[in-house]
Amino acid sequence: MSRDKFAFLDAALKQRRAVAGLRSLRPLKPRDAVQVWQGDRQLINFSHNDYLGLSKHPALIDAAQDYAERYGTGAAASRLVTGTYDIHAELEQQLAQTYNREAALLFNTGFQANLTLLAALMNQQALVLCDRLVHNSLLQGILASGARFIRYRHNDYPHLEQLLQQADQTCNLNATTTTATAANTDPVDKRIVIVSETIFSMDGDRADVDRLVALAQQYNAILYLDDAHAIGVLGAQGTGLAVGRTDVDLAVGTFGKAFGCFGAFVVCSQRLRDYFINFCAGLIYTTALPPPVIGAITAALALLPALDAERQQLATEATALRTTLQAHGYDTGRSDSQIIPLLLGSTERTLAAAQQLETGWDLLVTPIRPPTVPQGSARLRLALSSAHQPQQLERLQQALLSLT
Ligand SMILES: *Cc1c(COP(=O)(O)O)cnc(C)c1O
Repeated sequence: MSRDKFAFLDAALKQRRAVAGLRSLRPLKPRDAVQVWQGDRQLINFSHNDYLGLSKHPALIDAAQDYAERYGTGAAASRLVTGTYDIHAELEQQLAQTYNREAALLFNTGFQANLTLLAALMNQQALVLCDRLVHNSLLQGILASGARFIRYRHNDYPHLEQLLQQADQTCNLNATTTTATAANTDPVDKRIVIVSETIFSMDGDRADVDRLVALAQQYNAILYLDDAHAIGVLGAQGTGLAVGRTDVDLAVGTFGKAFGCFGAFVVCSQRLRDYFINFCAGLIYTTALPPPVIGAITAALALLPALDAERQQLATEATALRTTLQAHGYDTGRSDSQIIPLLLGSTERTLAAAQQLETGWDLLVTPIRPPTVPQGSARLRLALSSAHQPQQLERLQQALLSLT
């Protein structure tokens, strides 16, 4: 009998099982913006990122239908072939205008944007300094680029500055000692890229964008920020913490969260946009976003500026929940947004808590465990939405306080 060539699968899964880390997919059916059916049980969802309930908004659904009727269900080609319709170009212009930036470029997902923008932006001579807790898509982009990278301690800017100083010194040294032997090392090409999220996806805390901008300017580094959880929710009229700032070189926003749609975009200079159209594989070798998605995004973009009351409500609810949890001795880390981690430490305890919330209270709160988060920091990640009703939030609070 021949050797089982897939034996490695069982070994890997067994290892995951041993640390209670085995992942699986569980089908749900949405009922409205915050409730789901699981079989014949109805659960209140506190785990999704539909922060303003827009994924079920009639204006978005109507626009998606309308665009599908007029443009079809698929774009049928890459943006560079025949996949750039007038609606793609118009949306990019509207995004640039809304966020007061020179240019915007659409991507199919935030994951794809981060992975392929970073890979295009850097080469093996580049140095990346990224926050320890950046999202996996950013890490994948850094790895794909082949650049050298160092992770600075989470939101620790003195640490980042120290690394920038060291980089500055080595770069200067290299510049004076570079010879013809280093054929592909251009002494004027000293690319240093700083990478961070604005709101961290698993901790709900914030980077200090002013500080990052100042450091990037002082050390002539390129600043790349991921605004996935801030866009639509934070900043004036929901313009995020980075996307609406001209002093951030590149900022990525996603449409799958507060926009309630799908896809992503980067805002940057026209010069960078021209470069990506020529060198970013994740834009060049993929089919353009489908028309119904463009329709829904366009409708969300039109709605978002007027949702200040919803954003305010969301912020107030998050503060209230955090305050109550902390008063009862719970650790919510440094959360300062609609994302509130309940840090429980062990994976087993976190899994048991999630189970208790579901069976005892009909609440859906997904446990987040290593390797998604660092060892020993398993948590329930609570994500609030302005679509949650007061009694649903009340129920969540009661349930959490009753956890054993
Ligand atoms: C969700 C997320 C992404 C990925 O965006 P998708 O559009 O879902 O692929 C990227 N970065 C961060 C910080 C995220 O939380």
